[in-house]
Amino acid sequence: MSKQKIPQATAKRLPLYYRFINNLSIQGKTRVSSKELSEAVKVDPATIRRDFSYFGALGKKGYGYNVEYLLEFFKNTLDHDEVTEVVLIGVGNLGTAFLNYNFMRNNSTKIVKAFDRSRKKAGTQIGGVPIYHIDDLETELNNIDVAILTVPQAEAQEITNRLVNKGVTGILNFTPARLTLPNHVRIHHIDLSVELQSLIYFMKHYQDKK
Ligand code: ATP
Repeated sequence: MSKQKIPQATAKRLPLYYRFINNLSIQGKTRVSSKELSEAVKVDPATIRRDFSYFGALGKKGYGYNVEYLLEFFKNTLDHDEVTEVVLIGVGNLGTAFLNYNFMRNNSTKIVKAFDRSRKKAGTQIGGVPIYHIDDLETELNNIDVAILTVPQAEAQEITNRLVNKGVTGILNFTPARLTLPNHVRIHHIDLSVELQSLIYFMKHYQDKK
């Protein structure tokens, strides 16, 4: 419904807004200005005003936005009542860190199972998450829709094919592999070394000197 009308760039900022608005509500604040929001989430006020107009939240001059209204909207839109179960494939250094972290600050997503090809890792747990052998992927996946991929690059496509065949429709890909996927599958790539290099490049070339 309203979800489809929100542009993708706006949708990506929702969790950021949600976290901040939630904190305001915990502090007992009832309203917030776009300037305050802008400073806190580092998004310019014009973008905030445009984003919020998609949520049906129209700020009033001299009043700002109603915190409770926004909170309700974010809760409903981000389905925070419902926990989305996620699986993780590849319990190496990065995968292990995710299992220990397990999105503790965000109670709407949870890694419930992990898979690895190592027989030593299978049958153990990290951060309370059971690790299964990758051979058991098809039998253990059940109805889980979302997967985090932290396997080596060369393994990523084959694992992805298996995930998609079992009905996974969302993949968070931490490998540098560019994956081929059917259109109905949503993939987000996070290549940490590329992000770091790009940060350093922008610092060198675009940042104002002190
Ligand atoms: P480590 O130090 O444990 O090797 P790493 O992150 O440096 O961690 P990688 O070679 O990137 O190691 O592999 C990440 C994890 O993915 C390892 O635990 C490895 O056993 C696992 N892995 C590799 N291939 C597969 C596969 N086809 N299916 C499932 N897991 C796999």
